[in-house]
Amino acid sequence: MDGNNNKKQYMIAVVPGDGIGPEVCAAAVQVVKAATRGCSQLTFSEFEAGANCYERCGDAFPVDSQQACLDADAVLHGAAGLPGVLYPDGTEAGQDFSMKIRASLDLYANVRPIRLIEGVDSPLKRFGPGDIDYVFVRENTEGMYAARSGGNLLHDEIASDTMIITRAGTERVVRKAAELARQRNGAPRDGKRRVTIVDKSNVLRSFAFFRRVAEETLADYPDIEIDYAIVDAMTVHMVERPDSFDVIVCENLLGDILSDLGAATIGGLGMAASGEMGDRHGYFQASHGTAPDIAGKGIANPLATILSGAMMLDWLGSRHDDAPLTRAGEKIRTAVGRVLTEGQSVTGDLAGSASTVQCADAVCAALDG
Ligand code: ATP
Repeated sequence: MDGNNNKKQYMIAVVPGDGIGPEVCAAAVQVVKAATRGCSQLTFSEFEAGANCYERCGDAFPVDSQQACLDADAVLHGAAGLPGVLYPDGTEAGQDFSMKIRASLDLYANVRPIRLIEGVDSPLKRFGPGDIDYVFVRENTEGMYAARSGGNLLHDEIASDTMIITRAGTERVVRKAAELARQRNGAPRDGKRRVTIVDKSNVLRSFAFFRRVAEETLADYPDIEIDYAIVDAMTVHMVERPDSFDVIVCENLLGDILSDLGAATIGGLGMAASGEMGDRHGYFQASHGTAPDIAGKGIANPLATILSGAMMLDWLGSRHDDAPLTRAGEKIRTAVGRVLTEGQSVTGDLAGSASTVQCADAVCAALDG
């Protein structure tokens, strides 16, 4: 497709979900629509999944929603899961949606940018905007979470879940990390393109294998520096020297936990975007969950989901060689930057007093500013 073909049509499956999901999702749809007006044609259709859906129909990811997500050009999601809505085994029904969509769309790379934006105060006082700018590439289809629904509970005395690490699964996510590093400008501290492999290889054979396969894979990328960290030490490095990271690759559960810590360093979960990608499908939602404590109050920070919407446009733009769409993603990030710098229209988690809707309106207004 060339630059003239700027009216390409895309079908976006929207899954609002539970808790604050519908609120932040509506904000993201509003902003994505405004940013793409006049360039590509995006059609948004809503589908049900998650905890409320499970309560209503006994299925957290009904077949018609599954098919719609498979058929869509991309999926935009709010958040799913409610603490009290459980399967008989005690796990959350709504969380099953995320697990199932990752498996059925083979979304093996969960890309979570950790970027401190001007206007947001980091609790890491030595670091300002530009100092924290790295990306997690979390393996998203295997690891510890592959055991979901497959663990054992024996006689109510012994429980076990098995971690799955495969050569193929590790190679492909590490390649994704290396390719991402090639598109970036390196770590803020020294400008070096670097992939940090995070694991617990000093204790578990599965992690030692992950590290070895990652290292072998990165041998194909001599321009990228290889760096290693054991996960417990990594929590300290992320606080003490976040500027030394560029791209971080790790197993699923470790990535889930570490990326929340990363989010805390850039303004909290309300700022942490996320995109889950395979070779054919993309699924975009904030890193945060459904935040039931603030759901329905209209005070959730929509910026993480809005920035995830921008990631969706980047991904679609690059996949379909659609430059106007890529520019629309960039426009959203610039507008979010303006709203944060100006500071009047941010939500309570960023020490403001704006509502979710006011914040989204301000981003839309800033798109052409
Ligand atoms: P999950 O395991 O599903 O990812 P979680 O247990 O990490 O969920 P979240 O739902 O992400 O929990 O929320 C943790 C807390 O962070 C919430 O109680 C809420 O106070 C805050 N939070 C999360 N997202 C937002 C947001 N968009 N705006 C404001 N506060 C948020």
